[in-house]
Amino acid sequence: MKNPIYTRRSPNESLCLELIMNHPALSRAELSAKTGLTKATVSAIVKKLIDDHLVIETGIGESSNVGGRKPIILQYNGKAGLSIAIDIGYNYINGLLTYLDGEEVQHIKKKPITLDEEAIDRYLSEIFTLFEQQMPTTEYGIIGVAIAVHGPVYHGEPIFGPHYNFDHIPFRKIAEKLRNYPVYLENEANLAALGEYTFTSDSKNLVSINMHSGIGAGIVKNGNLEVGAHGFAGEIGHQIIVMDGKACRCGNRGCLEMYAANKVCYEQFAQRKKLDYVNAIILREYYQNQDHDAREVVEENINYLTIGINNLIAHYDPSIIVLNSSLYREIPDMIEQLRGNLRNHFSNQLVVRNSSLNEKATLLGGVVLNLQHFLGIKHLKLK
Ligand SMILES: [Zn+2]
Repeated sequence: MKNPIYTRRSPNESLCLELIMNHPALSRAELSAKTGLTKATVSAIVKKLIDDHLVIETGIGESSNVGGRKPIILQYNGKAGLSIAIDIGYNYINGLLTYLDGEEVQHIKKKPITLDEEAIDRYLSEIFTLFEQQMPTTEYGIIGVAIAVHGPVYHGEPIFGPHYNFDHIPFRKIAEKLRNYPVYLENEANLAALGEYTFTSDSKNLVSINMHSGIGAGIVKNGNLEVGAHGFAGEIGHQIIVMDGKACRCGNRGCLEMYAANKVCYEQFAQRKKLDYVNAIILREYYQNQDHDAREVVEENINYLTIGINNLIAHYDPSIIVLNSSLYREIPDMIEQLRGNLRNHFSNQLVVRNSSLNEKATLLGGVVLNLQHFLGIKHLKLK
């Protein structure tokens, strides 16, 4: 279902709205100069955007040095509606209700969960009901539901899931049956990249790496999400880094995620120490106490990831690589060592950093996906 306001918007309207969103404190005259549209056309478009409650006049700017009337500043109205983003992992479901500028209204997380159609129907129904009870009154109400899935997606349709079967759990259909909101589906790592692109960076070329039980990346190239010919772009966990190495669920041997996924690091450490369970916090405690085994498994993880990242740089030459990993977050030494390992000519200007959005990167990417459809705008910067 397309939102009526989106289908109504002309390319010039979208252009003006995009500029107002991406350049805070623009005046009509500056908008006219940036777009090449006449002042009369810009005025008419701005009037419509104000009537649509998407733009507000926020105050008076400085007059130009030749004097004249002080211009009125235009600003995107991020409070005109609400967005729902849902992230469905193999053992959790995460929901975020925000305004259209990403400001959080409500966040909910359920863990562990059962992954079958009936259970997903129940969780989504609970989340929708809770959000609807809590949501403030806005002009548009909920403009869309973005669902992040952990598997490749092509043109909004899931291809396969390593953790769940899309034929058995049709997420979109379940959500559409529950409510009349527009529903959009996207890969979780792609959404995280969109979230980082829109909310944390000025760059147009960015790679965001999500590391959990596997390793996936979202790639933003010249402001656009790179999905490839079949939706597999960014499946960096399946680059082969060891010949005849460990068998991977993708059908190959020696894939990066068989060596550098967080889960592998925890399993190796658990085995060495004969522990039943290891997570990032447990490993960090051993690491900080100079435990030899902890230091070794951590170093091995960094070295394998370095190979993966070197390959990424050679392929995509991003300005920024954002890591979203609870392991690298808990042990910040790891990111320092990783940076130290990237020493060739191609990585001189590269910024490698931990995500500041953490698990909300994917959910905020969901806000961006909803906005892209609702506003008819592709490139959003809402820092
Ligand atoms: Zn693989």
